[in-house]
Amino acid sequence: MYDAIIVGAGLSGLYALHRLRGLGLRVKVFEAGEGVGGTWHWNRYPGARCDVESVDYSYSFSPELEQEWDWTEKYPGQPEILAYLEHVADRFDLRRDILLGTRVVAARFDGGWHVTTETGERVGARYLVMATGCLSVPKPVEVDGLANFRGEWHHTGRWPHEGVDFTGRRVGVVGTGSSGIQSIPVIAEQAGHLTVFQRTPNFSLPAYNGPLAPETRRAVKAAYGLRRSLARQTHSGIPAEPAVQSALEVGHEERLARYQAGWERGSLVGILGAYTDLLIDRAANDTAAEFVRSKIRERVEDPADAESLSPRDHPFGTKRPCLDSGYFETFNRDDVTLVDVREDPIAEITAKGLRTAGGSEYELDTLVFATGFDAMTGALTAVDIRGAHGRSLRETWEAGPRTYLGLAAAGFPNLFTVTGPGSPSVLSNMVVSIEQHVDWIADCLAFLEGRTIEATAAAQEAWTAHVREVGAATLYPAADSWYMGANVPGKPRVFMPYAGGVALYRRLCDEVAAKGYEGFAITG
Ligand code: FAD
Ligand code: NAP
Repeated sequence: MYDAIIVGAGLSGLYALHRLRGLGLRVKVFEAGEGVGGTWHWNRYPGARCDVESVDYSYSFSPELEQEWDWTEKYPGQPEILAYLEHVADRFDLRRDILLGTRVVAARFDGGWHVTTETGERVGARYLVMATGCLSVPKPVEVDGLANFRGEWHHTGRWPHEGVDFTGRRVGVVGTGSSGIQSIPVIAEQAGHLTVFQRTPNFSLPAYNGPLAPETRRAVKAAYGLRRSLARQTHSGIPAEPAVQSALEVGHEERLARYQAGWERGSLVGILGAYTDLLIDRAANDTAAEFVRSKIRERVEDPADAESLSPRDHPFGTKRPCLDSGYFETFNRDDVTLVDVREDPIAEITAKGLRTAGGSEYELDTLVFATGFDAMTGALTAVDIRGAHGRSLRETWEAGPRTYLGLAAAGFPNLFTVTGPGSPSVLSNMVVSIEQHVDWIADCLAFLEGRTIEATAAAQEAWTAHVREVGAATLYPAADSWYMGANVPGKPRVFMPYAGGVALYRRLCDEVAAKGYEGFAITG
């Protein structure tokens, strides 16, 4: 019997293990993958890298770790981020409590949690921490006929460790979200011919990635504490000065100059953070969206391709924008073809490639599905989690997730979710959100001293209503995004993350704790 079981050994699970161990608790981590690192273990596709600067997309809990680790790039690639997380696992001696290659399939509460693994092993613990990730369950391929395909195929979120050789091959990439946008330029470099099947164009800004100069690293390290505390005070968890003006308060020329400066920063918040109302006012948003579209027209030589690649169906920022390295320019190559599968949908995968409803056939040797994830709820509902009354989380969330603070759910005592639905999670620099959640959970467990805690139904309803209300006041619901569950057929359309920002959210969580965990029932 453990004090706590943690499911998942990504950024969340590793830090949770470190913190809970620090409380003197007996902790076990189960991880389905054969290595630690979560996202960075699984997503090994060419071009995979972070979209929050390395110096910010990293743990802040250990000043020694901060000082001793040297990031080589502004936006390092997956191998470097994975190496960092492996270093963390070794440096804090975490591996001895992590069981790799072990998927948890069920968890049942009857005074404590009983967790069942894929191999049928049952393990008990007082508390259960689901650190299972918001983007860890790839969507299955939704097109008929995959079994007939004689070529090779891969999903970006389950990329083979030995890599994929595209040399001279006819490659098809389905999907133009961040994974597609990062991988397409790199695959194009190698492939004989690349065909990109695009259903919805996406906003993307140049990353302006490059090596981190030693003096930049030194300057960051000299003022790291300040940088981290600034990040925590922002909306997004990315350190930046807050906007003070509406985009509509200033003249066209001033706005353009501001957007141009934001563009040149190569940052997710460069443009979106320029004005206060870009994510709440459609007219304000249109000014930024049109600026980005004008850049696409500059970057893509063929006007028809430029138009196809220009997003018009959703406001800028309401799907996570991408940071790219040469994405739009890739379509200027003679050996790259763009196919609009909104106009002519994919009908089936055949033995030789792919056929569209309009009858066009594409012969392919390799298919890459950059088609995304069952986000936010997928990894939680994949486990048969049953609470105090035997009801499953899957059933409870049938009409959409309901949580208290994105951390807990009524009817599921002693269960904690890290960056669950109802928290800022995926709208933020995830490391900032992960550390805040894990710290909150650890402080809560220290307070409980083994007692049982459960979110009350009333607190959960109030929080869920608040999350909806804040979401509804933004432009996010205007997009068919994975934030809305819209990318998974049959998934309820609910805006899942909390759009109030990390600073406000932290304050609300701290207030709940300061009031003796208001909104929770504590027994025992
Ligand atoms: P994960 O890293 O997803 O780890 C969860 C782990 O739980 C996985 O290893 C999984 O195998 C395991 N697991 C799940 N279910 C079970 C089960 N039932 N039993 C056992 N194990 C289980 N966010 C940013 O803020 N900035 C970025 O630049 C950024 N880049 C990203 C790039 C990609 C390609 C993707 C997919 C996501 C990116 N994200 C980014 C989001 C990213 O998921 C988070 O930043 C962060 O890595 C999440 O850490 P985590 O530990 O919470 O979840
Ligand atoms: P995604 O954003 O959900 O994009 C999936 C793409 O596949 C979309 O273009 C989607 O089109 C398309 N698609 C899905 N199903 C399809 C189908 N049946 N037929 C045709 N097209 C289909 O997934 P992702 O690119 O993997 O990114 C998910 C999230 O992970 C990101 O938003 C980001 O938060 C994170 N991420 C970050 C980075 C980074 O830069 N650091 C990199 C990768 C991922 P529709 O839009 O029409 O649905």
